[in-house]
Amino acid sequence: MATAAKAILLIGDGLGDRPIAALGDKTPLEAADTPHLDSIAADGECGLLDPIAPGVRPGSDTAHLALLGYDPHRTYTGRGPFEAAGIGMDVRGGDVCFRCNFSTVDDDMTVVDRRAGRISEGTRELASALDGMEIEGAACLFKESVEHRAALIVRGEGLGHDVSDTDPHEEGVKVHQAAGGDAASQKTAVVVNEFVRRSHEILSKHPVNQKRAADGLRPANIALPRGAGVAPHLEPFQERYGVTGACIVEVGLIKGLARYLQMEVIDVPGATGGRDTDELALARAVVEAIRRHAFVLCNLKAPDLGGHDDDPQQKMEAACKLDRLAGYLREHVGDQAFLMVTADHSTPCVVRDHSGDPVPIAIIGPGVRTDDVTAFGERPCAHGGLHRIRGSDLMNILTNLMAVQEKFGA
Ligand code: ZN
Ligand code: ZN
Repeated sequence: MATAAKAILLIGDGLGDRPIAALGDKTPLEAADTPHLDSIAADGECGLLDPIAPGVRPGSDTAHLALLGYDPHRTYTGRGPFEAAGIGMDVRGGDVCFRCNFSTVDDDMTVVDRRAGRISEGTRELASALDGMEIEGAACLFKESVEHRAALIVRGEGLGHDVSDTDPHEEGVKVHQAAGGDAASQKTAVVVNEFVRRSHEILSKHPVNQKRAADGLRPANIALPRGAGVAPHLEPFQERYGVTGACIVEVGLIKGLARYLQMEVIDVPGATGGRDTDELALARAVVEAIRRHAFVLCNLKAPDLGGHDDDPQQKMEAACKLDRLAGYLREHVGDQAFLMVTADHSTPCVVRDHSGDPVPIAIIGPGVRTDDVTAFGERPCAHGGLHRIRGSDLMNILTNLMAVQEKFGA
C-alpha cells in the first residue's frame, strides 16, 4: 500500500517531563516500560514538538487548538466558549460566554457560600428556570454543568466581551456589578447584571430551594457569571481539511473544542478521565471511529494528573496506559492509518503544572522516513528525523502524508 488516507493523533495529556533523580535521572516516560511506544519510535520517525512555540506554557485548550491547526493567539479569549460547548450548549461565533456558579446570597446580596453548599442535585431544574430569558434584545442561554457549576451564553448584536466578573471570588462580600471595558461590553454588562438580578428573584422562590431550606441546606439562590470570553469564528474541521474528524477524549473542555469544530465527539463508557480509566475502551472506540472518519484525535488524560500531583510513579503508570493504548491501535489499525503519538504539553512533576518544555513525537505509517531513534522518550526523540516542530505543523504533516492536502502554488 503506497499510502493511507487516514490518520490517528494520539495525545498523552501532559506527558512530557524532566529528568527525576529518584528515577535515575530519567523522565517518567523514559523510565516506564513502554514496548509498544518504543517500537513505534523504532519503526517510525521521531522528533520534539513545541505545542505553541518554544518555551510557551500551554493550556490544554490552547494546545489542542494549535495541534488541530488553529492559531490560539488569534482565536482564544477564554475557556468559557469551549466549556459551554463541552456541556452540550449550541455555541455560535460571537456569543459571549461565561462560566457560572450557583451560589448562596443573603437578603443584602452578600455572598454566603460561593458554591451553594456544593449543590449536586436539582441544578438541571434550577438551570432550566433561568434558560431562555430575553434581556435588552439579547438572548440568555443557561445550562448546568457538574455540581455548582453552570454556563451562560449572551447572544445578540453588538455585544462585547470585556466584562468584569459578578462573582466576587470570596465570601462575606456583596455580589459585584459587572462593568464593561468599552461601549459594546457595557451593553453586555447591562444584560448580565439584569440576568443576575432576575436569577435571584426566580431561584429564591424555586421548589428545589424550598426543599433545600426544609432539609437545612443552603439555597442555590443566585447564578454568578465570571470569566467572559467570546466564541471565535472558527472554520469547522471538515471545511478546513476536506475530511471528517472524530474526537475521543476524556475532558469536557476538549470535547467542547471538538464539538465547536463540528467534529464527531464520541463518549466512551469506562473512560473516566482519572488514573483508573479504561485505556482499552478508548482504544476500541478509536478503532471503530477510524473506520468512519479520516481523522481521529484521542487524548488520554492520566499522565497530566501524575504531573500535577508530583507523583512520578503514577505518571509512569499512565505512560504504560498510553503504551497499551498505542499497542492496541497498532495491532488493529496497522497500515490502514498513520499513527502519530505525542503530548499537548509537558506537566513536569517538579513544576506541578504545565510548562513550556517540548514534548516527544513519533509517527508511523506507509512511506514515513524511518530514522535511527529506537525509544519513545523526551531525549531519544530529540535525535529523530522530524527534529523540532510546532503544533501548528502537525496537520500539515498529516494531510501531506494522507495525500489530502492541496498544493500551495503551481
Ligand atoms: Zn493537557
Ligand atoms: Zn493539566
